[in-house]
Amino acid sequence: MKIVWKWVLASMAMFVLAACGTTNNDLGDGTNNTRSENESLQVVTSFTIIADMAREIGGDAVDVHNLVPTGTDPHEYEPLPEDIKKATDADVLFYNGLNLEGGKNGWFYRMIDSVGQKEENVFNLTNRVEPMYLSGEEGTEEEINPHAFIDPAVGIKMAEDMRDAFVEVDPERTDYYKKRGDEYISRLEGVVQEYEDKIKDIPDENRILVTSERAFQYMASRYGLEEAFIWEIDTEENGSPEQIKSLVGYLEEHKVPVLFIESNVDRRPMETVSNESDIPISEKPIYSDEIGQSGEEVDTYIKFLKYNIKLIHDELSEQY
Ligand SMILES: [Zn+2]
Repeated sequence: MKIVWKWVLASMAMFVLAACGTTNNDLGDGTNNTRSENESLQVVTSFTIIADMAREIGGDAVDVHNLVPTGTDPHEYEPLPEDIKKATDADVLFYNGLNLEGGKNGWFYRMIDSVGQKEENVFNLTNRVEPMYLSGEEGTEEEINPHAFIDPAVGIKMAEDMRDAFVEVDPERTDYYKKRGDEYISRLEGVVQEYEDKIKDIPDENRILVTSERAFQYMASRYGLEEAFIWEIDTEENGSPEQIKSLVGYLEEHKVPVLFIESNVDRRPMETVSNESDIPISEKPIYSDEIGQSGEEVDTYIKFLKYNIKLIHDELSEQY
C-alpha cells in the first residue's frame, strides 16, 4: 500500500513539474521545484557595468554571465563558446544599445540571432534615453554615442528598466526585485546629487574635461562641462597626427588645467598632446568603457561613478 502511494505521489509531482517546469534550465538537481522557488534566474549581460547592475538588483535570485570582460573593447567583440552556451540557456539578456555592441549588425545581435533567443527575453536598457550623436548633429545609427551610462541620471533609467525586466520574466519574485531595485536607484539618486554639487564647486573657467575618446558627452552636457578629446570613438582611428593637432590647437585657445587618460586606452596619444601643449596629465586614470576586476578600486558601477566625479572635481579644482 505504501509503495503504491509513493508511486502515485511521485507521478503527480512529475506531472506538475512537466506542466510548469518549462523554464527550468538543465541543472539536473533532481528536485521537484520550479525555478521560481529555488533556482537562479539565468542572466546574460553584454558588458561589465550592466553585469554589476544585474548583480545589485538581482541579488541572490540571479546568476549572471557577462560577455565582454574588463580590458576588452565592448564596441567589437567575438563571443566565446561559453558565451554562446550561456546566451542559449539564458532566461533574460541585457545590453546597452545606442550602438555600444555594434548596433543592429553588431556582434550582440548576431549572437542573439544565432542562438535563437526569444525577443521578449532580450532587453535594451537605453530605450528611454535620448541618443546623442558624435557628429554633433543627428546622424545615422553608427554616429550615436554609446556612452550614456557615464551619466548617473542615465544609470537610473537603466536600473529602472532592469528592475521592471526582472519582474516581467520572473514575476514570482516581484517584491524582491522591486525592493532591491528601488534601493539601488535611491543610491544612484544620491550620486546624481553628488555630480551636481561637485561640478558646481569647480571654478567656471576650469569646467573643461579633456579625454582621449569622446566618451563623456552625455555626462558633460547634463552637468555643464565642456568636452574636448582626441578621437570621437574607439572604433575609428585613435590618435592620428591630425586628431592630435586639432586638440593641441583647441588647448592653445582654452586654458585647461589638466588632461585625463581613460583606463582602457593607449596612453601615448594623450602624452603627445601633453608634451606639445605643456598641460599635465592627471595622475590617476578616468574610467569610461568598463569597471575594474573584482577587488580593484573601481569594481562596481556606483564606485565608477563616484570615483570619476571625485577625480574630475579634485583635478579641475586644483590651481596649476
Ligand atoms: Zn568607448
